[in-house]
Amino acid sequence: MQAYCLKCRAMRDLEAAQQVTLKNGKTAMQAPCPVCGTRMSKLVKTPV
Ligand SMILES: [Zn+2]
Repeated sequence: MQAYCLKCRAMRDLEAAQQVTLKNGKTAMQAPCPVCGTRMSKLVKTPV
């Protein structure tokens, strides 16, 4: 899975991404950028 790092302005691979549920009920994957350490989030669709 890849996510866009706002700080690097590049796509980075998400390693050891953790699934989190946002306040609005949506599911996202979060993982630190392997290059700069900034937390990246990527929304994911979950089957109902
Ligand atoms: Zn980065």
